[in-house]
Amino acid sequence: MADYGEDLIEQILLGPTVFKDEAPLSIEYIPSRLPHREDELALLAHLFRSILERPGSTGQRVLITGLVGVGKTVIAQKFGMDITNAAKQRRIKLHYIHVNCRECKGSLFAVLMKVIEKFKGHFPRRGFSSEELLRTIMNILDEKDIFLILALDELEALLEIDHSALYILTRIQEERATEPVRVSLLCMLREPKYLELLDRSAASTLQQNFIELDPYSSSELVTILKDRVELAFKEGSVNESTLEIVADIASIRGDARYAIELLWRAGKYADSEGSMEVKPEHVRKAAGALYSTLRNEYLTTLTLNEKLILLALSRALEENNVAYLSMGELERAYMIVCEEHNYPPRSHTQIWKHIRLLSATGLVSTKFSGKGSRGRTTMIGLTSIPASSIVKCMEASLEARSSKSRNK
Ligand code: ADP
Ligand code: MG
Repeated sequence: MADYGEDLIEQILLGPTVFKDEAPLSIEYIPSRLPHREDELALLAHLFRSILERPGSTGQRVLITGLVGVGKTVIAQKFGMDITNAAKQRRIKLHYIHVNCRECKGSLFAVLMKVIEKFKGHFPRRGFSSEELLRTIMNILDEKDIFLILALDELEALLEIDHSALYILTRIQEERATEPVRVSLLCMLREPKYLELLDRSAASTLQQNFIELDPYSSSELVTILKDRVELAFKEGSVNESTLEIVADIASIRGDARYAIELLWRAGKYADSEGSMEVKPEHVRKAAGALYSTLRNEYLTTLTLNEKLILLALSRALEENNVAYLSMGELERAYMIVCEEHNYPPRSHTQIWKHIRLLSATGLVSTKFSGKGSRGRTTMIGLTSIPASSIVKCMEASLEARSSKSRNK
């Protein structure tokens, strides 16, 4: 690099910026209020109040559904904070534990390990079944007189992979009918159609308390964004018309996460041009960037094997100009991609498991082919993102990885 490299980096790091504090624009941030979700929060409070009034007498099961970015996770987390505070005031030991089932690769065992680790720190992984882990958890709760709200985020992953998981969870109390009810479930799911994977009794217990979140309208997104702008941007750097265009673009999907990310990215474009104001043009640039097709946050959660599968799928779909591939066609494309990237191909069963996990995230879609004398086969396609964008995105991500390992 030439000498000016260092100066340039210094200029970027210490130069002017439109941001005051980027943290409120991050995914982990839990805002102090949730505009346009007050009714839903109040409903949650009504549904769960009995566990504070008569701890041990009842458990609750609630299901929140809605598309990506409509606030499922943040509502649950905010509610978890509120209810644990209320419990503290009444000296009730109530814990709220939020677990993402997709990050647990759809395994009930992994979900329960997360729960145990909250209580025990380290716990030996081997030699236990899910049922045994669950019993251990119940013992801990009994011993310490703790009540638990277990929030299962991205439940579709668990439903896809571990068919008996929810059944086991909803039956906890049956084995201990005379003991206090210790566990309540707060589940989050993108589409209620996943409940079809459940047996009827588990599905119906979840469907009793069912909160459906609609996509946000453009004006609702403006309110949500305004709160963040105040916290994250310097005064006067984001004006009304900039907010409006962010909200308009994001309202196509009604997705608050996309809106917040778009605003953040637009701020970065403003900084890179040395502009003290985020302008509509910065927003348009941000929306056009490849970044917006596959979110960063999402990319980081994909395993290497999943990236290879996605690359294989998207390439083959694009090259053959088709909407779906059969499993055999996908596997052939996958082999080629694995060879290219020097990666030992995984077994048919493994690939199939990853496809189901990817399908649970809504990126990949699967369906049965109705016709054919050889019986029904599964067809695999993509949902809303163009194959060519995924190819680019995966290639870039895999390339970044291999150059990193080359430099090691
Ligand atoms: P989901 O889990 O439904 O995909 P999230 O709960 O992750 O959506 O919400 C996406 C982003 O939008 C998060 O950063 C969240 O803080 C924010 N958000 C969603 N709804 C609201 C709201 N009503 N008020 C403030 N921020 C919100
Ligand atoms: Mg979520």
